[in-house]
Amino acid sequence: MTNLPTVLPPFGVGRHLLSVQQFDRDSLQQLFDLADLVRPIAERRQICTVLDGAVLGSLFFEPSTRTRLSFESAFLRLGGEVTTTTGFTFSSMAKGESIADTSRVVSGYSDVLVVRHPDEGSVAEFASASVVPVINAGDGAGEHPSQALLDFYTLKSELQRRDRSVDGCTIAIVGDLKYGRTVHSLIKLLSLAQGITFRTYSPPSLELPPEVAHYARARGHHLTDAETVADALIGADVVYATRVQRERMTEEVLASANVSGNLLNRRILKKAGAAEIIIMHPLPRDSRMDSFDLSNDVDDLPGLSIFRQTDNGVLIRMAIFLTALGCSADMVKATTKQRPWDATLRWP
Ligand code: ASP
Repeated sequence: MTNLPTVLPPFGVGRHLLSVQQFDRDSLQQLFDLADLVRPIAERRQICTVLDGAVLGSLFFEPSTRTRLSFESAFLRLGGEVTTTTGFTFSSMAKGESIADTSRVVSGYSDVLVVRHPDEGSVAEFASASVVPVINAGDGAGEHPSQALLDFYTLKSELQRRDRSVDGCTIAIVGDLKYGRTVHSLIKLLSLAQGITFRTYSPPSLELPPEVAHYARARGHHLTDAETVADALIGADVVYATRVQRERMTEEVLASANVSGNLLNRRILKKAGAAEIIIMHPLPRDSRMDSFDLSNDVDDLPGLSIFRQTDNGVLIRMAIFLTALGCSADMVKATTKQRPWDATLRWP
């Protein structure tokens, strides 16, 4: 797991966001309140300029579509500007530059950095050399805190629509639980709630790291391994599926995991009596024929929440920037106006 300093300060003004462990229940609720506040701005019904003049340095050394674009959209929607670099090829790291030098240099050009890197602990290394707050957008198989925050936020609102709460819910988590960093962050963040039952299923050799299971159990949650996906679904309010992180494993590990056929599809859900279940996935899903992932044949089921997760990603990331840069709800309100143009909104 991520090689983080043992005690991370709570996330707040001028602070890095490296791990979900920087939240408690109150600070999580404060972030969610800010996310609620900026919804009309995210939906482009209102325009906000609270970050006028601020510059985001967006550094992605691993593939990304929604995390990078939603962080960048979030910053732009708050009136800031974005500078970006993707991959190693076009950065001076290809010339042997260290993380520390890159971080010090780019942080001198920015007010906040968002960093994704393939190595666990690497974003913390960026943070140590940066002169501005660094937000972890995924460090190898370590953590992905902004994804866990948007997952929790989405899960909370999906359960609320069904008159349920996160406290006491049952969540099936299925797929590659070893290398899937979103799962590590989500289980830890959900551990802030009370009395959760986690039912996990993973293929052999892709099991949840014991440290993550221990983290949840030590906080009073119930976590059991299921033999099959169908078993994991028993009594679950929600299923969270993940892709096999092929880029993080050797051919031998992949072969021993023996991943073939759909991980989760309509037939499996119907057979388990779970056709109404809330369905979540951090995306991307592998939509090729028979891939070991969430099948597209679930897309018209009522609980499908994967695109509400991606939409909520913008709100949550706006709230993260507002927090790190010390912008209060009042500052946001004072710099927000109705949009002057007419647009056909596609948000539900
Ligand atoms: N987008 C998520 C991540 O970056 C999930 C995935 O790639 O499978 O971790």
